[in-house]
Amino acid sequence: MNILVLNCGSSSLKFQLIATDLERIDRDTDRELARGVVERIGSEAILTLRVEGRPVQRLAAPLRDHRQALDYILRWLVSAEAAVPEVSSLAAIQAVGHRVVHGGEKLTRSILIDDAVIEQIEDCIELAPLHNPANLKGIAAAREVFGPGIPQAAVFDTSFHSTMPPESFLYALPYQLYVRYRVRRYGFHGTSYRYVAHRYRQLTGRPLEETNILALHLGNGCSICAIRSGESLETSMGMTPAEGLVMGTRSGDLDPLVLEFLHHKEGMSFEELEALVNKRSGLLGISGLTNDMRDLLAEESEHQDRRARLAIDIFCARAKKYIGAYLARMNGADAIVFTGGIGENSPEIRRRICAELDFLGIAVDPARNESISGGLEGEIGTEGSRVRLYVLPTNEELLIARDTVRCILDVPRRW
Ligand code: ADP
Repeated sequence: MNILVLNCGSSSLKFQLIATDLERIDRDTDRELARGVVERIGSEAILTLRVEGRPVQRLAAPLRDHRQALDYILRWLVSAEAAVPEVSSLAAIQAVGHRVVHGGEKLTRSILIDDAVIEQIEDCIELAPLHNPANLKGIAAAREVFGPGIPQAAVFDTSFHSTMPPESFLYALPYQLYVRYRVRRYGFHGTSYRYVAHRYRQLTGRPLEETNILALHLGNGCSICAIRSGESLETSMGMTPAEGLVMGTRSGDLDPLVLEFLHHKEGMSFEELEALVNKRSGLLGISGLTNDMRDLLAEESEHQDRRARLAIDIFCARAKKYIGAYLARMNGADAIVFTGGIGENSPEIRRRICAELDFLGIAVDPARNESISGGLEGEIGTEGSRVRLYVLPTNEELLIARDTVRCILDVPRRW
């Protein structure tokens, strides 16, 4: 089956076309046929497109909305010019899998999309006002283009964390606020955590019940997840993705009354405070330069930029603090897994986060650590490191494609 995976943001659309089925899933022989990103939807959009094994193409086109963006991509995918293997018409696409950020308390599994599911996703808009509306636009566009004959599945960032117990997901606010509004921790990056936990099991031969790992997804958004017996025990993002680790533009943990203080001092509205915490803080806010870790590392080493260093130090200190807290929360872990753009590609950040954790049995092997980036996977701990250390590149799109197949065939999820 060829599955089109869509991941829609407010003005962007990422896609992958993946050939997979139950046999390929079992043998790990799924194949990516094409992938791309459309950015700046709503004006002169920029498209970056690639067919497997060929050079990247960059194009610009005026695309008004997600529907137009999807039409454009589909025309390209089936064109003679793209020449995607075995894809020459829309009939070659058998299903669509959508990344949906928030499934709330009810959507705790990947699911085939029908009108009732769309309503439930709409009900979660108030929990994820920045994300779910864009995901719904992608679903609407795909339903219009493909019609009812093509199955579509929704895969939620939150669902992996539905196993968290109340002592992990409840905030210490008056309990009635949870009952009334479902104010609680939901957690995100769940698709990524499921993927790396599965990969860890493949590499180590561990069964699900013995998967006790701490995973750090460090990308533009950053979080950490304690995975005990293969399930999410606790994760650092909260009711929204703003809580927890320091991120590219998000502050992560913050005394909530700082916002009230700033409201009085600077006359900032709630909208402005939301933008402050989500878009102007984190690495960008501290450095005053950029949210991009690679650029910050370059500024630090080439120009000895003081605030770039401070931003990186605060980022690493927060991650280290959470490692200690979460190892206590789960009574130790067999392994720590790094993933996401920073986790996969930056030996320097991994080194700084893990430095001076030898009392916990965590020891990075410098040569192994340096040798792993750019999509490679492997161990970076010393032989003697009691907690094994892994870099495992994530692949959320692949997991979405696989879940779509499993939803269509009604195969229970095994991991
Ligand atoms: P997103 O969360 O948007 O999917 P990614 O997972 O791609 O983002 O992560 C983006 C982050 O990864 C950026 O901060 C980027 O600088 C960082 N990154 C990518 N490559 C490197 C590298 N070689 N060294 C350090 N940071 C890197």
